[in-house]
Amino acid sequence: MTPWDPSAEAGPPGQSVPGRVRIQTEPVTPIQPLPARNGNATKFARESVFEIRDMAVYYGDSQALGWTSLDVYEHLVTAVIGPSGCGKSTFIRSLNRMNDSISGFRIDGQVLYHGHDVYGAGVNRVEVRRRIGMVFQKPNPFPKSIYDNVAWAPRNLGMRDELDERVERALTQAALWDEVKDRLRDSALGLSGGQQQRLCIARAIAVEPDVLLLDEPASALDPIATASIEELMHTLKHRYTIVIVTHNMQQAARVADEVAFFSLDGTSRVGTLIEYADTQTIFRSPRDTRTRDYVTGQFG
Ligand code: ADP
Repeated sequence: MTPWDPSAEAGPPGQSVPGRVRIQTEPVTPIQPLPARNGNATKFARESVFEIRDMAVYYGDSQALGWTSLDVYEHLVTAVIGPSGCGKSTFIRSLNRMNDSISGFRIDGQVLYHGHDVYGAGVNRVEVRRRIGMVFQKPNPFPKSIYDNVAWAPRNLGMRDELDERVERALTQAALWDEVKDRLRDSALGLSGGQQQRLCIARAIAVEPDVLLLDEPASALDPIATASIEELMHTLKHRYTIVIVTHNMQQAARVADEVAFFSLDGTSRVGTLIEYADTQTIFRSPRDTRTRDYVTGQFG
């Protein structure tokens, strides 16, 4: 993966970004690594892929997410958990500007991706989404062939060289190649739900992203298909950085290295980051009683 070169991005400097309150145009000051927490220092040798600083999100007059600061580390699976409506989807969708088209959406603070402000002036949103791919809750293959689903984004982005190899590589990484190699021209809609979701992962992988955002990727699947998606995450994290929203705590415990627990803050009903730590800490010895109550099933 080549470093992201913001100078290659479209748009004149100082151009305003619709829906944004405050635009960071000054050079970003390098941020010092966070101190080791919970006695687990090894992961902090890792590079931060995202440095999220004081991020707040609004839909119209209503604040969905309070001031949130955290780092997401390379080649780890970071799970986002919390009760319904606490802003999990809002958070993950804000990492690759997927919320931009929502009327009334506003974001404040900074989302730095490898040090570059994702919401900075002149940033090319297509490039953001190529680098930071997303897979949704419900498998959503196009009504096209299996091959054309995977080839769709590379074709649109002009990545047409060795397309067959690219499609095969993406399907192999998504653990689907062996199941579909003899029917690449068949409709993707004929695949099972679990296969469709792995196809959507292959579709995201085909443009060589750096990050995969998975928004409840297994919640519409049966237990066997869910297990194959979870197994896939363990393999994919060696190549990609993964952020997953899940309402399933067993799943978070099985797949995640890091867990961010969000909840609704008291009477304001604003989604708030309560605790962020390695998976073992969150599930075995959380610092915050609200985390403990949630992971032990006493609330939410
Ligand atoms: P979660 O993923 O944790 O269930 P969401 O991020 O979907 O939470 O929602 C957080 C809050 O933002 C909720 O109050 C929800 O109603 C609100 N919200 C989410 N999407 C929209 C939207 N498109 N327009 C207005 N409000 C929204």
